[in-house]
Amino acid sequence: MAEGSNTVHSPFLTYVSMLSLLTLCPPFVILLWYTMVHADGSVSQTWNYLYQNGFEGFINIWPSPSATACKIIGCYAAFEAALQLLLPGKRVLGPVSPTGNQPVYKANGVAAYIVTLVTYVALWRFGIFDPAIVYDHLGEIFSTLIFGSFIFCILLYIKGHVAPSSSDSGSSGNIILDFYWGMELYPRIGKHFDIKVFTNCRFGMMSWAVLAVTYCIKQYEKNGILADSMLVNTALMLVYVTKFFWWEAGYWNTMDIAHDRAGFYICWGCLVWVPSVYTSPGMYLVNHPVNLGTQLAVSILVAGILCIYINYDCDRQRQEFRRKNGKRLVWGKAPSKIVASYTTTSGETRTSLLLTSGWWGLARHFHYVPEILAAFFWTVPALFHHFLPYFYVIFLTILLFDRAKRDDDRCRSKYGKYWKLYCEKVPCKIIPGIY
Ligand code: NDP
Repeated sequence: MAEGSNTVHSPFLTYVSMLSLLTLCPPFVILLWYTMVHADGSVSQTWNYLYQNGFEGFINIWPSPSATACKIIGCYAAFEAALQLLLPGKRVLGPVSPTGNQPVYKANGVAAYIVTLVTYVALWRFGIFDPAIVYDHLGEIFSTLIFGSFIFCILLYIKGHVAPSSSDSGSSGNIILDFYWGMELYPRIGKHFDIKVFTNCRFGMMSWAVLAVTYCIKQYEKNGILADSMLVNTALMLVYVTKFFWWEAGYWNTMDIAHDRAGFYICWGCLVWVPSVYTSPGMYLVNHPVNLGTQLAVSILVAGILCIYINYDCDRQRQEFRRKNGKRLVWGKAPSKIVASYTTTSGETRTSLLLTSGWWGLARHFHYVPEILAAFFWTVPALFHHFLPYFYVIFLTILLFDRAKRDDDRCRSKYGKYWKLYCEKVPCKIIPGIY
């Protein structure tokens, strides 16, 4: 079987998907921000406003990109790029690509994460910069990101044509497909600045932690006190993002990096959708300081941390199993496995090990269950007065169910009869015994 990592995308589905991303997602981001910040988190309040004021009303609430927003985003992006380039880190090899390249990374994500958060809080404590300003200009920031990331993706497309960084690139012959799904798998500036590490990790994921802290500080400055609901939400989000950076080198082996090219689809998601939608439960809590009481707050916190740990352990188990060539014990026993061979696009035959015990014996994508539950636990401090804080959990559920299907399809075309064997051994896709 030929490795199916350069996924073949149907042009028609791409047009539909791109059209919806361009026409629905940017207005959604702005409406989400407006509802959380100016309409008490109430969808019906925003709906009534739009009903009464029509399209003109919608245009009136859309903030223009501003100089302040550009300065905030520019300083943040430059700071993160500098940390990515300058902080020391272990040399890490990524997975071998379909054309036989093996990207080399510098694993300095944890250091960048600590330096970012310590600097941000220090700027606040020493009165140099008030993070509440970020919250007060959030609409302009999202608006600037919407337009800025579109321009960024055009530049990425041009780079893919005129100066690709490796042989893992190329055109499908269709300009829209190339722009949307990307031209390059591993675009770089020079030899060392990896663009996907920047967009996905150091800009996107880092902004999640920075905004979570921003919402906390804003609530504290507004009310003079921090509600326990906000504390639980922020603590869980920060544990999640900390886990991400702790495991960042593992992330470089996942679909986002090793299979999906750097195009509008993934870059827009990381540069706009992550800072706005992923952080939205915290954005809601700024104006809704719910008090849960110690017992409930601690229970939610413990349940959330447990889910984040299980999700981490699933990823760790798979990667350790591969790293140790199937020789590491899984849940105290020798792992059960399938030795699956496949053919690369250059015609070479290679083998991969598929783990069929431990978490990976419960369901083929069991790791998505604790991922979704963790998101539920950092949202539930908002209680159930409004629907909108739960948008992220619902979106994530749809995204991961679709991703499980995409990954299954890709693995089926890559491993053929070996994947069929895995499906017979582990019949459920995500939820053991159910789906
Ligand atoms: P992974 O890339 O980690 O896992 C899928 C890949 O693992 C497959 O493509 C295959 O790659 C390999 N594989 C599949 N089955 C096995 C097996 N039994 N044994 C060994 N290897 C196997 O998946 P994701 O990128 O989807 O997830 C990574 C993490 O990111 C998860 O924790 C997930 O929850 C999280 N995530 C979060 C999202 C969010 O928006 N919050 C979105 C997506 C993911 P190969 O070709 O190497 O065989």
